[in-house]
Amino acid sequence: MQQDDSHITLITPTAPMHTHTHGGRAKCLQRLVRLDLPVPRTVALSFEAVHRIAAGELPDMARFLAPFGAAPLLCVRPSSEDPDWGGPGAVLNIGINDTRFVELAERIGKEAASHIYLRFVQAYAIHVARLDPDVFEDVSPDPVLGLSQALKAYESEAEEEFPQDPGKQLTEVLRSMARAWEGTTARLLRQAKGAPADAGLGLVVQELALGLGQGECGSGVMQLVNGQTGARQIIGRYLSQSQGRDALSSGADAIYLTRDPRGPSLEDLAPDAFAEIRAYAELMRARLREEMQAEFTIENGKVWILDGLRVPRNGRAAVAIAVGLAEDDIISRDEALMRVEPRALNELLHRQVDPNAPRDVLARGIAASPGAATGRVVFSAAEAQAGHSRGEACILVRRETSPEDIRGMHAAVAVLTERGGMTSHAAVIGRGIGLPCVVGASEIHFQTRRKQLTMPDGRVVKAGDVITVDGTGGLVLAGETPLLEVARDDAFQTLMSWADDVRDIAVRANADTPADAEVARKFDARGIGLCRTEHMFFDTERLTVMREMIFADGSTDRAAVLERLLPMQRADLADLFRIMQGLPVCIRLFDPPLHEFLPTDRAGHLQLAEALDLPLSDVTRRVEALSEYNPMLGMRGVRLGITVPEIYDMQARAIFEATLEASREGAPVVPEIMIPLVSAKREVELVKTRVDAVAAAVRNETGRDFTYRLGVMVETPRACLRAGEFAPLVSFLSFGTNDLTQMTYGLSRDDAGRFMSEYVKQGVYPEDPFHMLDVDGVGELLKIGAERGRAANPDISLSICGEHGGNPESIAFCRDAGFTYVSCSPFRVPVARLAAAQLTV
Ligand code: PEP
Ligand code: MG
Repeated sequence: MQQDDSHITLITPTAPMHTHTHGGRAKCLQRLVRLDLPVPRTVALSFEAVHRIAAGELPDMARFLAPFGAAPLLCVRPSSEDPDWGGPGAVLNIGINDTRFVELAERIGKEAASHIYLRFVQAYAIHVARLDPDVFEDVSPDPVLGLSQALKAYESEAEEEFPQDPGKQLTEVLRSMARAWEGTTARLLRQAKGAPADAGLGLVVQELALGLGQGECGSGVMQLVNGQTGARQIIGRYLSQSQGRDALSSGADAIYLTRDPRGPSLEDLAPDAFAEIRAYAELMRARLREEMQAEFTIENGKVWILDGLRVPRNGRAAVAIAVGLAEDDIISRDEALMRVEPRALNELLHRQVDPNAPRDVLARGIAASPGAATGRVVFSAAEAQAGHSRGEACILVRRETSPEDIRGMHAAVAVLTERGGMTSHAAVIGRGIGLPCVVGASEIHFQTRRKQLTMPDGRVVKAGDVITVDGTGGLVLAGETPLLEVARDDAFQTLMSWADDVRDIAVRANADTPADAEVARKFDARGIGLCRTEHMFFDTERLTVMREMIFADGSTDRAAVLERLLPMQRADLADLFRIMQGLPVCIRLFDPPLHEFLPTDRAGHLQLAEALDLPLSDVTRRVEALSEYNPMLGMRGVRLGITVPEIYDMQARAIFEATLEASREGAPVVPEIMIPLVSAKREVELVKTRVDAVAAAVRNETGRDFTYRLGVMVETPRACLRAGEFAPLVSFLSFGTNDLTQMTYGLSRDDAGRFMSEYVKQGVYPEDPFHMLDVDGVGELLKIGAERGRAANPDISLSICGEHGGNPESIAFCRDAGFTYVSCSPFRVPVARLAAAQLTV
């Protein structure tokens, strides 16, 4: 069956042509034609035309070939809607046959003509006749000899003569490319890159500019920017007597474009052609409003532009390019903001594995905290600290981390754990302090006693061996791997300031320590949205006092120990207030179960018994008494505050005294106090009464006044449903989506890592809900909580402080729901600022 040719169009400045009907390459070529660039004649086949070809409906070849004049040589290239979706490789030199070979040999020489013919025979054999590339294994590198050998090899393998009819050659090439696109593997591959199931393929058929023959002939690519750094410089390669993108794959034979001490250049060899190509590249940048790579051919001195491709770039270059185009008034600032994928900023904020460097993957896990680092493997926090003090880079390897590992985490350059998911201890702390982290690497056999790791392929990594942890890609790599440095350069700062100009939802940071707060300030967070106060007690010295408090007999003893904790807490908070310079600081009252502060093994119990001067059996008994079957749903958060109220009293006092201290030096501080894990109104009433009482006492004692805001952390499903009851008692609600996700799904945030990848692989969950907010379920609870809270107290402010707060998709949700701010780990603040800005553009 023959198709009409309404879907086959000669590319002219006015031909109807769109990216969604003909693909990005066809559309770009039309733009180049409009700019009057010397583009060889090109015909575009729409998605529809290609689809019909795959179904066996072929175009009328005589009419198809008419625009190309007599005896053309052609090339066919794919044109999908998004170039990242891939497509079949280009096929060059279609139309060559025995007769044309003779003519061509007269014109450009036998060797060059043989090259052209040979290349086509091989491409046709492999892509169309689907012969094994090995059949050409013994073909001579000499093109004249090689051609006759290749033709013979084709004939004997394909059991037919090499097709001589250019129409048939073209038809078969088009058909094979069309079918390749519709194959299952190709479809799955592109769907993995985000292509819709029915993504179409266009094709462009272009008359060949010969890069082979007499005079200066060759091909190459030129771009005006470095795709790694974003620096403006002419980059590319040129290879005499070559076609297509040969210059990029030929290694040492290709030459530089600009004058270069390392060797000859196109600028020396053909200065006029060089200047002409450069001018075209500049024109493309200005008029296509993008950094483009020009693919060119020089044919006996004449320049042809075959194609323009968006320059491939990493995150750092993406920022520099967008800012550069806006500063040159080629695009607007808003457009520059839209051109950078927020997550790509991670590449600027943390060291990254160089994507172009060779890597040896040992195992995979969950990419829990971005960045990469190389170091020696250690199996305990103490060894990490010891290594750190010797100036050694250490990778802390644990089954899972616990509060006791915090100092080791600070001392390590990266963390690797067997267990855990996106909101497990290691992940949350890792993101908080900007430490690369891979968790849930359960395919590795962790033999922590023997101090070794057995990788899935049987390789063994022992303590002291060097590995690289890639927390961005979730990979464990053997040995040292080249890393790209952090690049918070001028372009980054500029883009961030443009983002802040348009953003209409604030971004705060989750910061627990003065060090976190410094990072938060550096990234221009608009305050602290969550200070997990218990994190202030993981320091070894304080941990002992904390343990004394837990072991205290009765409230008198406990009060005495709390007296000692008070100044520590007060000093930390005063520091935070000072660093944040009047920006809001939201302090969460103590949350975790007490046993988290107790050692888990016998050696630890013994140490504690010595430190507290207690019999070992007392310590063991006490630890057992506090242990819970399900600590995440046990005595934590406000439940602890209600049953052991002295702890919250101490914290409230520390907050108010620190407020007064910090207010002495600058503007009055208005602290925000947040009650965690609320599920009933009465909990809020009880805590509010005590906090108010402490405030009154401090006012009385000091004779000074201050204000504060009380809020509820909404992180149980019941708190969402009953928000209307307690909203009138408080000034803000902050959604803790880590616990809320855990409780909505009934899914342990610490154990889910074991099966999460299987669940996502089998499509049970579209994404890890601890990573990507579950808009349908958890999101509905969020909306209910927000609506009921707001209805009962119209002045209430709403926010999110779970890990989802730094996710671009969740930020859109929170903005739509009318939240005042999102709060996330300090290192994610820039990502969130950009994502928030994009929502307003
Ligand atoms: C939460 O549950 O979302 C939260 C922020 O608190 P945490 O992670 O400390 O439980
Ligand atoms: Mg929580």
